[in-house]
Amino acid sequence: MSSLLPNYWAGRWQYGTGPGIPLMDPVLGQELVRVSSDGLDLEQGLAHAREVGGPALRALSYRERADLLSRVGEVLQAHREAYFEIAIANSGTTRKDSSIDIDGAIYTLGQYARWGQSLGQARVLLDGPGCNLARGGAFASRHVLTPTRGVALFINAFNFPAWGLWEKAAPALLSGVPVVVKPATATAWLAQRMVADVVAAGVLPAGALSVLCGSSRGLLDTLQPFDVLSFTGSAQTAALIRSHPAVAQASVRVNIEADSLNSAILLPDATPDSQAFELLVSEVVREMTVKSGQKCTAIRRIFVPEACFDAAAEAIVAQLELVSVGNPRNESVRMGALVNREQLGSVREGLAALQSQTEVLHDGNDHALIDADPAVASCIGPTLLATRHPQDAHRVHDTEVFGPVATLMPYRSLDEALSLVHRGQGSLVTSLYGAQPQTLADMALALADSHGRVHVVSPDVAAAHSGHGNVMPQSLHGGPGRAGGGEELGGLRALGFYHRRSAIQASPSVLAEVLPQGTAWTVD
Ligand code: NAP
Repeated sequence: MSSLLPNYWAGRWQYGTGPGIPLMDPVLGQELVRVSSDGLDLEQGLAHAREVGGPALRALSYRERADLLSRVGEVLQAHREAYFEIAIANSGTTRKDSSIDIDGAIYTLGQYARWGQSLGQARVLLDGPGCNLARGGAFASRHVLTPTRGVALFINAFNFPAWGLWEKAAPALLSGVPVVVKPATATAWLAQRMVADVVAAGVLPAGALSVLCGSSRGLLDTLQPFDVLSFTGSAQTAALIRSHPAVAQASVRVNIEADSLNSAILLPDATPDSQAFELLVSEVVREMTVKSGQKCTAIRRIFVPEACFDAAAEAIVAQLELVSVGNPRNESVRMGALVNREQLGSVREGLAALQSQTEVLHDGNDHALIDADPAVASCIGPTLLATRHPQDAHRVHDTEVFGPVATLMPYRSLDEALSLVHRGQGSLVTSLYGAQPQTLADMALALADSHGRVHVVSPDVAAAHSGHGNVMPQSLHGGPGRAGGGEELGGLRALGFYHRRSAIQASPSVLAEVLPQGTAWTVD
């Protein structure tokens, strides 16, 4: 039997009881390691983080905590090659796709380390200017943000074991809040290994970082009112979390990043020979294939002017035909595996649901696998679906297939395009492709209320834009409605989730003692 990974819990390495849950290589079908959280004292782990890690972090200034983030980044950088080995084996992703997770994590930590420096030696954030509450300024109000006294519990999804941990941990630790992470079981190894390296390097205060691998049973029961919970995963699990008494009754602050039916829209000024058309085609193909489409931000719905429908279908299919699928250890492979056979089954099930209302333009099952046995590997090629009647195809607008699948649809007017996009009920991101600044700006603003991000691709940014699906720490990540209603990243804005806002109402002389301890909460 392969080895059981320990949990870093209550300040020491502890093994769960029982045989544990196997983590698999999704290409070779071999067991890699096992995880178990059974038998651990969950209350004790959270109490240790709250009572030991919290005070130690809060005793530091923002700048000192920013220095800690830099040192964590250095530790991760030093062990980067080991992370690639784990990601390729356990997630089945190519080296390039693994880099989005691993290097994305290190980059995000580095950004927060830099931004944190700007907050200096303060321990409090000042939110906006003061307001007079009495004539002549004899009594006034000033809003402050102070770090919450609880823990930050992260329950993460399987698709970004590294980035998913550090994009949340960076703003939490910078805020002075200890982190407890429960990675998704299927790919927990990478997060566990990163925590192990950081713990071994001794760069963080005791209690600042804990990891629990395996079942989350009972974990939410240990939460207390000043804890915060950040969840990333399916809408189904999100619904369970929202209704948990810790959230529903004890007011534990919760951030939810759930699934999303993201769109790409080619604007009416684009013709099949335009650069905007080409940019849409290449972005769609990239989004369908990066990490085998297992990205919450991936393009699922493609809207093009009716006159461009046939040309878009032809151009996307031509590029999908060239995508090599199989074992990510083979350098000729562009697209690796899904995370496991269960996910492969769920993608096939989702495809069947969508196919009842669409036609198949390119079938992922037609791709021969390279260095992978179809009876064992969790691999499937990219599938492009289409419908000429998007108003009638409700499944396309409400079913997330978490794999290399997208649906092409025509629209007849921009109003129709907007109404179709809105059938997704709120998404993480929509991208727009066109060349007329006024139309692009109008569309971006029309979509802003229902999207965490609107990514506008015009020919002048062809080489500069950051990619539809890439989550940059500078910009907001999250989306309203179906996408979970969460907000992450967006520079120092992210610190708001880990602080409590309070209005200090006092005399000018008391406020004069408060203000020097703080720094303005600048979000840039
Ligand atoms: P999932 O099945 O909902 O699992 C997410 C996490 O929740 C895992 O750590 C899981 O643990 C845990 N969990 C499961 N049941 C739980 C319960 N009853 N109480 C507490 N925790 C529980 O999602 P997934 O399959 O890992 O991820 C895929 C989904 O995540 C997709 O829908 C995708 O769109 C979404 N996603 C969204 C974002 C975003 O930022 N919006 C990012 C990535 C993924 P176990 O693994 O141990 O079951």
